[in-house]
Amino acid sequence: MNPRILIVGAGPAGLAAAVSLRLQGVPVTVVDKAAAPHTHPKAVVLWPRALEIFERLGVADGLVAAGHPLTGQHYHSNGTRVASMTFRRLRHTKYKYALAIPQHTTERVLRDRLTALGGSIRTHTELIGLRQDAETVTTTLADLGSGTTSDETYDWVIGADGVHSSVRAATGIDFVGQTYEQTFLLSDGPCDTGLATDSAHYFMTDTGVLVMVPLPDRQWRAFISAPREIPEGEALVDTVARVVTQRSPVPVRFLDGHAAGRFRIHRKAAERVWQDRVFLVGDAAHAHSPAGAQGINTGVEDATSLAWRLGGICRTPVSTAESGRLFTRWADERHQVVENVLRDTDLQTRLWGVRGVRRRLRDVVLYGAERTGLLDRVVIPRQTQITQRYEPAPGQGRPKAVGVLRSHARLPNVEIPTGGGGTHLHDLLPTTEPITLEFDPTGTPGHPTKVRHLAAVGGTGPDTVSLSGPALRSALGISRRVTCVVRPDGIVAALAPDTAPGKGESTS
Ligand SMILES: Cc1cc2nc3c(=O)[nH]c(=O)nc-3n(C[C@H](O)[C@H](O)[C@H](O)COP(=O)(O)OP(=O)(O)OC[C@H]3O[C@@H](n4cnc5c(N)ncnc54)[C@H](O)[C@@H]3O)c2cc1C
Repeated sequence: MNPRILIVGAGPAGLAAAVSLRLQGVPVTVVDKAAAPHTHPKAVVLWPRALEIFERLGVADGLVAAGHPLTGQHYHSNGTRVASMTFRRLRHTKYKYALAIPQHTTERVLRDRLTALGGSIRTHTELIGLRQDAETVTTTLADLGSGTTSDETYDWVIGADGVHSSVRAATGIDFVGQTYEQTFLLSDGPCDTGLATDSAHYFMTDTGVLVMVPLPDRQWRAFISAPREIPEGEALVDTVARVVTQRSPVPVRFLDGHAAGRFRIHRKAAERVWQDRVFLVGDAAHAHSPAGAQGINTGVEDATSLAWRLGGICRTPVSTAESGRLFTRWADERHQVVENVLRDTDLQTRLWGVRGVRRRLRDVVLYGAERTGLLDRVVIPRQTQITQRYEPAPGQGRPKAVGVLRSHARLPNVEIPTGGGGTHLHDLLPTTEPITLEFDPTGTPGHPTKVRHLAAVGGTGPDTVSLSGPALRSALGISRRVTCVVRPDGIVAALAPDTAPGKGESTS
């Protein structure tokens, strides 16, 4: 195996792709036009689904150690609390919290992991041209230090080069959508405030929105929609500090050491994320409002769900038709996710800014949704991406469901009691290959679940982990044998119930 893969961009999406490929033993070249890692304030929230992916990349512990857990979020309208949501009621995940962590720390942890796996980044190296034929991609790379350029040939190129992607432009793929009129400002740094440090706080006011997110090391992210008027010459950080005191009902005083930024937001998606030998992941493929904090989370998922497929065909070459089928499916799945993310983040951004009757209606709906438990049952699992599920591809038939297991959906990370304590289902999944999980809930009540690993016969096909014992009945809600094939990204590819459904089980 000697595939040549170029990853353009060492942001979170490019690094996640690089780590995932290196874990499969696949060599990669990573280039980034920046001379050194940035420390700008960017994304600050990782959701449970991203943490599960990071666990599979071997970086979750490092991130959790460097981050700050958030157990909920509170919404205020013109100074009155209208709704709160908690992550503590999330089911079937180890991560019943969101992790607040500056993006540059997430990138540092990923870079360290890449280095430990033998990878590296060619910094100060910019992709300035790209053309492809049926067999290869020829790239033109500029060494920004020496001012020289060179042509390099690769088998595959992953464009993880952000919202202004050169890979996307050079491939002739349009970035379709709009840019919002509103400008946003943010500032990260220490604050003197009585706001609770275990939650994010949203303050929606008639003059604009303020979001306060506690960060590690007693720092805060203050995020605001820009005020209508900014006095000439006012420093950005002073504007943010001034607006924060106007919009927060709880006093917030900025202390020294803030880093501020200004940005416009978009609602855009690449027309295609795959063209022959070139792929787009992360912001190169989609750009949306930071409402709901989906950017980094979705980008990492794009990258890792591509990497296991690309890694697989590098390790075991397949026909062009078969690789086309794999990448069509990847592109289709990402399209489904991105459509939802664009819709949800757009709705949330619009709801921040409504006034008058519509504001009162929004507040009543939010209040009611909290009271009926809808926010915790539906909104939070969707926002944290753990209810992720795909429409089946043509010919895959209707989705199946048995107990808590669903085909084409994330494998719930249920804890199964075993003799030596417990095991989470995700701990059984290999990082590079699909695996078959066989669940048999028969056995003597009170006996712990037996877990047996069986290697594939002759080394072909997925290995099998067989779990048996009556505790599976309550843990998974199953009353008969069930077999699942689970992909390396934790999605159930196939689900085969052995017999007719038991009471309470559905096959829809
Ligand atoms: C101010 C701000 C606040 C944000 N807040 C949030 C938030 O709260 N939550 C959230 O989820 N998201 C947020 N985002 C979005 C989030 O930062 C992005 O979704 C995320 O950075 C995307 O990661 P990426 O790896 O796709 O691209 P990027 O992080 O943009 O990385 C792209 C990399 O490619 C390199 N590059 C670009 N062009 C080339 C080239 N031609 N050749 C070589 N290298 C190149 C760049 O130097 C960069 O390192 C925010 C963004 C900004 C700017």
